[in-house]
Amino acid sequence: MKQNGKVWLLGAGPSDPELLTLKGKRVLEQAEVVIYDKLVGAGILSMIPDTAQRIDVGKTAGSHPVPQEEINRLLLEYAQKGKRVVRLKGGDPFVFGRGGEELELLSKHQIPFEIVPGITSAVSVPAYGGIPVTHRNLSSSVHIVTGHAQKGKALSIPYEALVQAGGTIIFLMGVSALKEICQGLLSAGISPQMPGAVLERGTTAYQRRVVGTVSDLYEKFLEAEIKTPAIIVVGEVCRLSEKFHWAEDRPLGRQRVIVTRPRKRASILSGMLRELGAEVVELPSIRTVRLRRNTLLGQAISGIAVYDWVVFTSPEGVELFFEELKERRVDVRKLSHLKFAAIGSATKKAIEDRNILVEYMPSVYNTEYLAKGLARRVYRKERVLIPRSVKGSKVLTDILAENHIAYDDIPLYDVKPELQHPIELLPEDLVTFTSASTVKGFVERFPKADLSKVRAVCIGEQTAAEARKSGMRVFVSRMATMESMVEKILALAKEKDKS
Ligand code: SAH
Repeated sequence: MKQNGKVWLLGAGPSDPELLTLKGKRVLEQAEVVIYDKLVGAGILSMIPDTAQRIDVGKTAGSHPVPQEEINRLLLEYAQKGKRVVRLKGGDPFVFGRGGEELELLSKHQIPFEIVPGITSAVSVPAYGGIPVTHRNLSSSVHIVTGHAQKGKALSIPYEALVQAGGTIIFLMGVSALKEICQGLLSAGISPQMPGAVLERGTTAYQRRVVGTVSDLYEKFLEAEIKTPAIIVVGEVCRLSEKFHWAEDRPLGRQRVIVTRPRKRASILSGMLRELGAEVVELPSIRTVRLRRNTLLGQAISGIAVYDWVVFTSPEGVELFFEELKERRVDVRKLSHLKFAAIGSATKKAIEDRNILVEYMPSVYNTEYLAKGLARRVYRKERVLIPRSVKGSKVLTDILAENHIAYDDIPLYDVKPELQHPIELLPEDLVTFTSASTVKGFVERFPKADLSKVRAVCIGEQTAAEARKSGMRVFVSRMATMESMVEKILALAKEKDKS
């Protein structure tokens, strides 16, 4: 019999991916199967490794969620297959997360498990709304209550006890019963002037807050057309949000940005945007897949002595080439006779990070400039090795051929669109594109979506041209740098806030 796997009940936090714990991140990155529900933030879903199987058991518009018994059974089934199973849940798994129920079957079958607590929405959503759940002189206890009745039963909230305790009361899953809850509290003798708040989609760029009193909160809530998920906070502390609100006030605090760069290269841009308060969803639209059992490359490497130049057209190419060398146990000193060329600054950096200096990089970062520049520099009788994408542009090899330069164009990797689980695009989102291929990958990912509403922030004209083809609203950064893209995003977010 196959050895049993293991299950991790993992709390994803309220939505902001940076509120996932370090342990949660490590466990998620090692998952083989991820079973998640609706409340898990888009930014966290995008951290699920490509190699993991994803199972969505949450409610999607129009369809029902997978019943609890079925989820329990799935966990057991995959664990019995020997998998590392992550059960990813919004907030904390044990705060109205039915985490305990999911453990029953596992413990019965002696499946090993771990619990990774998460930051519960009950305290973090108020924090992002400028509401401390306790505060000296205002509230000395917190009560977290479900506003959701069990099937076929009426709500059973101990209003009197709660009102008597006098602390902050937090209702999860309560917005559909908001009217009843406010009435219940009033009948139990709470002051009609007691402040209350409804906090929608906390810790995201779309978070909103309605503050009132127990007497008028329901009306205000209707007026604001609050959507789920939302929590209700009742208590004097709600008053403080007027003074302590902060999340939306950050320069990009109300902007969600979708970053489509391949994951490894996304972090600089994402980091700058997060620093400014943006909600960043990394949604790599392409991924590079190294070719396996690559005999052409094998021959080129064993015959490396015949080459004079190596030309790289992407940082991925550099990385994969050196990986290949290492696997084949080829020492870097075997390359000492070679001159290196790079298409642009990121590729150059990838080469120079390996302590190999680059001989040539064109002043304009594209294939044509690279090819023409090489044509002027490569001597007669010299031979050029080009390890690159299977889909590499013919422009490079055509120009070299025209100039009678001997080359070997060796496929090293393929570029594939990332098609896994698209997120729902929201109208105010900005999407960043750093190459034409990221645009193509993105368009393939959303075959049915109306892209005419997508606001695309593009790094340069070539990328912009590709985005225009699919009808997106295109904005181009002043320069081809990450800083310049961030500047553009700041300007667009400001414009939106004014309108
Ligand atoms: N285990 C979760 C709660 C699950 S119950 C936790 O610890 O947070 C689901 C309820 O949580 C929702 O109905 C809503 O009331 C609340 N909730 C979860 N995420 C939220 C968010 N980002 N903003 C507002 N409310 C949220």
